[in-house]
Amino acid sequence: MIQDLNIIDAGYTICFHLKELLNSTDAETTGSELKKLLNRAQSGEKVNSQLRELLKRSPETRKWTYNFLNTEEEITRGGFKNPPGDSTQYISGMKKYICPENGCPAYWYRQRVGQEVPKCFNHVPHVDLIPYTKESETV
Ligand SMILES: [Zn+2]
Repeated sequence: MIQDLNIIDAGYTICFHLKELLNSTDAETTGSELKKLLNRAQSGEKVNSQLRELLKRSPETRKWTYNFLNTEEEITRGGFKNPPGDSTQYISGMKKYICPENGCPAYWYRQRVGQEVPKCFNHVPHVDLIPYTKESETV
């Protein structure tokens, strides 16, 4: 099943991977900019183009975002191409995980088979994300 993932989905999910993608200084600055933008998105502001710019800033986050969205047009305009030989197995129909804490906006998509489910970045180190179900929406 093809999911309609957008740059906001990419923004939340990449929050959990910045430390793998960037050095610790960049991970911190990008992370705090990212969270500010996501907060503004939460309050209804249109921040998609700013998010896209932020995620394209380094080759690592650009590649990650491209893979996440898996669409030609979103990121390729910035010149990114999936490198040959990248054989990572991505899940089609990624599974969504949410934070069980009341009012916490964090969520994450599991992209690869066997990928470990992270802790919530707002509630590190104690809160594990849980699989999203229809019922969890109404909690
Ligand atoms: Zn949380």
